[in-house]
Amino acid sequence: MPRLAALSTRLPLLRTAVAAASAIPRRRIVCLLPKRAFSLAPTARAAAAAQALTSAQYPTLRRNPDFKTLNDNDVAFFKSAIKSPAGVITADTPDELEPFNQDWMRRFKGQSTLVLRPSSTSEVSAVLKYCNDNNIAVVPQGGNTGLVGGSVPVHDEVVLSLQNMNQIREFDPVSGILTCDAGCVLEVLDNHLAQKGFIMPLDLGAKGSCQIGGNVATNAGGLRLLRYGSLHGTVLSMEVVMADGRIVECGKPLRKDNTGFDLKQLFIGSEGTLGVITSVSILTPRRSRAVNVAMLGVSSFDHLMEVFKQAKMDLNEILSAFEFFDRTCLNLVKRHIPNVRAPFDADTRFYVLIETSGSNKDHDDDKLSTFLEHVMTEGMVEDGALAQDATQAAGMWNIRETITESLAKEGGNYKYDLSVPVAQLYDVVEEMQKQLAERGLYAADGSATGAVKHVVGFGHMGDGNLHLNLTSTGWTTELTQAIEPPLYKSIQRRGGSISAEHGVGLMKAPYLSYSKSADFIDLMKSMKKLFDPKGILNPYKYFPPS
Ligand SMILES: Cc1cc2nc3c(=O)[nH]c(=O)nc-3n(C[C@H](O)[C@H](O)[C@H](O)COP(=O)(O)OP(=O)(O)OC[C@H]3O[C@@H](n4cnc5c(N)ncnc54)[C@H](O)[C@@H]3O)c2cc1C
Repeated sequence: MPRLAALSTRLPLLRTAVAAASAIPRRRIVCLLPKRAFSLAPTARAAAAAQALTSAQYPTLRRNPDFKTLNDNDVAFFKSAIKSPAGVITADTPDELEPFNQDWMRRFKGQSTLVLRPSSTSEVSAVLKYCNDNNIAVVPQGGNTGLVGGSVPVHDEVVLSLQNMNQIREFDPVSGILTCDAGCVLEVLDNHLAQKGFIMPLDLGAKGSCQIGGNVATNAGGLRLLRYGSLHGTVLSMEVVMADGRIVECGKPLRKDNTGFDLKQLFIGSEGTLGVITSVSILTPRRSRAVNVAMLGVSSFDHLMEVFKQAKMDLNEILSAFEFFDRTCLNLVKRHIPNVRAPFDADTRFYVLIETSGSNKDHDDDKLSTFLEHVMTEGMVEDGALAQDATQAAGMWNIRETITESLAKEGGNYKYDLSVPVAQLYDVVEEMQKQLAERGLYAADGSATGAVKHVVGFGHMGDGNLHLNLTSTGWTTELTQAIEPPLYKSIQRRGGSISAEHGVGLMKAPYLSYSKSADFIDLMKSMKKLFDPKGILNPYKYFPPS
């Protein structure tokens, strides 16, 4: 690596950091493409076992009596409509049923007695037509990695899982357009494209489990949004099954199509309330030939913003990620994820992970070296490390990507993903720490002795997206009330959004008015009536309870 060696000669601090990164034995760095197995630590598992039903946690969300309770004839119909014997799971096998009733955080627990796993669009259509005709409520489910309680039932809704719809239908290497079933797992698609020199335009820590249909239904953001934009731009068309079973093509796999309303946009981020997405066509970019990853330690949020401004100036079109996390996040990752080591020793208040992607390594190295020289000589950065190969780059990414998992292993985890003007991102974290400390719920000295153990911030700085997370001994109404209305009021006051990327689901439905006006919500309700007149799709969620 002559260019990086030259760079480190000019930058003594960086040289130390690079040496530290190089010194990490290879076997200690977590493997390149981990298939995430989201296991929980014993404390969290115990909390899960004791977890109350969602219907008990939200007693005001009563079961809609218009929805039919399933009987043997209904189950017999579904068994005839779905050809695969593994396509229907009933209460006869409770162990198989349970994961579909429980969300990833182990915070929400439904009571469905039936999971349907169709293998084709026509099977989805037959199922939904029957449900609509018979007033049977349905929860569409992808990889069940959603973080707002949207993917699991509240009462006894039927779970319609897209797991068995996992075929790649077509890939055009000239246009880069990929068409696939909605149940394809994101990481599988990315690996498939990698062999062809392309890349999925989105990436998230849950990639080993989440599905492209779920990504589109939640309008997932993630780690590549800074570079490739949101799914509202990259999804070109989709196939949707309406609540009454009609199969509707929303557009064609074309970059330009100016005929009619762009209905697919309505389904992006509709969280299973308007229809079931059964296939997606998405524009995929070329995989970059030259990728650099650096992790830097920064002592204050003001410095972090300076580094961000400098990165945009010096790295411009090759900047592909700018992720930040605070010291506690790093410490929790080190505690809970095996074999993780920070690539340098300096203990700083914030860390930033910067990625560049381009097509010319010399050109990118030059730009990165100018940037690193600037931020280090100007004192914006305390210490840093530059990955010297793909394994080290993956090791750095692994730290960022396992923050969510580490927090979940601490016990009860309150998760908020917020859009806030960049300059105010960390003010939100400090405000929450102060408020909870004043109420005796959080120990401000960092001793983790309060009902709330940690209040941390991390996220996609480049997108103005803060993940504010609190870990606690469990979820209680008292804590929820101490956190939620004040937080959402603060976000409204700051001109932000109460959901940057995870969506509304069950968790944020009562607070939608902090981000949307009454007229806007009325219009949303009218559209829901048009698309799903009987309200069978994902009831009790997304809209403020009436
Ligand atoms: C470790 C971890 C990291 C994460 N990182 C990010 C991140 O960086 N950015 C981000 O945006 N999110 C992130 N998430 C949240 C989650 O992964 C995303 O919301 C993801 O897009 C959900 O996809 P899924 O297939 O798991 O959907 P599910 O969780 O199964 O469902 C989510 C919602 O979409 C609906 N739905 C699912 N499939 C369909 C379909 N085919 N048709 C209609 N509706 C459907 C469901 O009804 C539900 O309302 C993370 C989660 C975890 C656990």
